[in-house]
Parts: sequence; structure tokens; C-alpha cells
Amino acid sequence: HHGTVLQVCPLLPSLETALAAHHHTVRLAELPDPEGYLRDHGGEVAAAVTSARIGVPDDLMDALPGLGAIVHFGVGYETTDVARARARGIDVSNTPDVLTDCVADLAVGALIDVMRRLSAADRFVRSGAWTSAAFPLAAKVSGKRVGILGLGRIGRAIARRLEGFGAELLYHSRTPATDVDYAYLSSPTALAAACDALVVAVSGGGATQGLVSADVLDALGPQGHLVNVSRGSVVDEPALVSALVKGTIAGAALDVFAHEPEVPPALLELDSVVLLPHIASATHETREAMGELAFRNLHQFMTEGTLVTPVPTTPVPRTAG
Ligand code: NDP
Repeated sequence: HHGTVLQVCPLLPSLETALAAHHHTVRLAELPDPEGYLRDHGGEVAAAVTSARIGVPDDLMDALPGLGAIVHFGVGYETTDVARARARGIDVSNTPDVLTDCVADLAVGALIDVMRRLSAADRFVRSGAWTSAAFPLAAKVSGKRVGILGLGRIGRAIARRLEGFGAELLYHSRTPATDVDYAYLSSPTALAAACDALVVAVSGGGATQGLVSADVLDALGPQGHLVNVSRGSVVDEPALVSALVKGTIAGAALDVFAHEPEVPPALLELDSVVLLPHIASATHETREAMGELAFRNLHQFMTEGTLVTPVPTTPVPRTAG
């Protein structure tokens, strides 16, 4: 492939350097007149490199008639309309697997944090409160029933880690897995009702919007904890805030929110909530690996016309249940 590589948004510095060193790369965000560039040169763009957060919006896709590939830095790609891309013959890639360990590590850390109240205890010590009171008791982690919502790459890695904690594992995905011993529950509500802690690891996008509903939170119950490392869109955020404020669930550890970087102000007041700024994959090692895989996708497309890790292009039609 000849042509320009369009860098849609700021990316990991080492990835930006590699793109600029090996391909004619234009950084959209640094152009004085992006609209003028797209009007005059949009047809020269062969591939777009973007983050999972930004994707390639419809109007940008439409301004790139020669586009052949969209390369995402990140495993989630719901910000890009893949059906629209596919209809135009545009290939799409993401960065699966290389971030699974770090996201699973973070999920388990967040689960322990919210159940054992680590962040709250840290605040307790820093505030000087320890000199006049004992810290309230927390909930035991080992041996608990943990429900995994979305037993994909990351969900499985979370479950494997929790086996080491003697957890009883349960899960819900649209399709039961044939290669695990964990108990399958047929709906998110049934899963929440059966577990002590619910860990959300499904993919984002329209199909999972609001999957963790007020009913699911009710089923989780006043002793139940929620961890979300997937996407803020998966949880009915107003219902979650209400459940936490009223104490109809015990606590939540959240790496993702509906309107990042905005966090519902009511949550800032609650010691039962662990708030994280979307850092599940944010280690030096994993971000470099993501950058390398994104670059390999881009480079292979530009030299051979194929992607290393294309997203699934023919999703199996499924029914909810
Ligand atoms: P996978 O595609 O391997 O796993 C997704 C899982 O979700 C699958 O098991 C799928 O199973 C399940 N799922 C999808 N739709 C539904 C549904 N409607 N109801 C129930 N289950 C569903 O992806 P990964 O494990 O690699 O990544 C998961 C997500 O984690 C990413 O899409 C991303 O949004 C998020 N993520 C967050 C990060 C962060 O920084 N916080 C970092 C990296 C990823 P089935 O198809 O059988 O339903």
C-alpha cells in the first residue's frame, strides 16, 4: 500500500515515533487546519491509527475515501462503527491478549481494595483518625463466590487469579464456555443473585449498554460488591450511584465511568467506593506491548495488505438469554 497513515489522536510516544519513522504519517490533531487537510488530501489516507477511546468517528471515515484499515491502540473498538467500515471494505484491528494480564491484575486488586477497604484505610491513617479510633471491619475475600460477567480473555484471566484465592467462580456470557468448570448462570441478574462479588469484564458498545441494571444491582444485594473494569456504559450509572448511596449494595470498585473523566460527585463522598482513572492496562510493560502490536498491524497492512490481529468480522448472530 502506498499512501498516508493518519494518526487520529495523540498516542503512546514510542508508537508515534515508530509510525513517523516508517511511514508517511500525518497527525490530525497537530494540523493547523484539519478540515482543509481532509478536504484536499483525505483521499491519500490508506490507514488510520487511533485509540480505543476515540476510534474513527463516522464523519472522519466518510472523509477518507481511500481508507483500507483502522488500527486501534486498545482491545475495545466500540467507538468505531465496524459494520460501517466493513461495508466499505475497511479492515479493523485491535490489541487483544497483550493487555489481559494487567487488566486482570487490576481487577483483582480493585476487588481486594473495595472488600478489604484498603483505599479507605489509607485515608483513615493519613487523616490522623487512627490515633482516636479503630478502623471498621471489612469483608473477607478468600473463599467467596465471585461472578464474572463476560468470560472472555480478561474475564478468564480474572477467574484464574481468583482460583488462587479459593473463590467459587460463576459466570455469565451469551454463550456458555465448554472448557471451564465454573458455574454458568443464564442472565446477569441470576449471576448477581448467586455471587458475593460481581466483576464486569464484558465488551462495551450497544449490545452491553446498561447490562448491569438496577435489577442486577438489587440482586447483588446489601452484602454484594461490584467491580467494573470493562466500560462505564455497561453499568446503569445513576442506578449504581443510588444503590451505593442507599447501601443496597455494599461497595464498588470502578475503573471506568459513563462520562469519563467525569465521575458522579456523590461517589466522591463514599468510603465504600474505589475510584480509578481508567488505568487497568496502564503499565509501562503493557502499554509498550500494545504500541508494538498496533504498529505491527499498521506496518503489515501497509506492506502486505493484511492485519495481524483483525477484530472478528463475522459476528455470530446471537439471542439474549
Ligand atoms: P473478549 O471479547 O475476549 O471478551 C468479552 C466477553 O464479553 C466475551 O466473553 C463475550 O462472551 C462477553 N459478552 C459480550 N457481549 C455480551 C453480552 N451482551 N452479554 C454477556 N456477555 C457478553 O474481550 P477482552 O476480554 O479482551 O476485553 C473485554 C473488555 O474489557 C474490552 O472490550 C474492553 O471494553 C474492556 N477493557 C477495559 C480496559 C480498561 O482499561 N479498563 C482495558 C482493556 C479492556 P459472549 O460473546 O459469549 O457473550
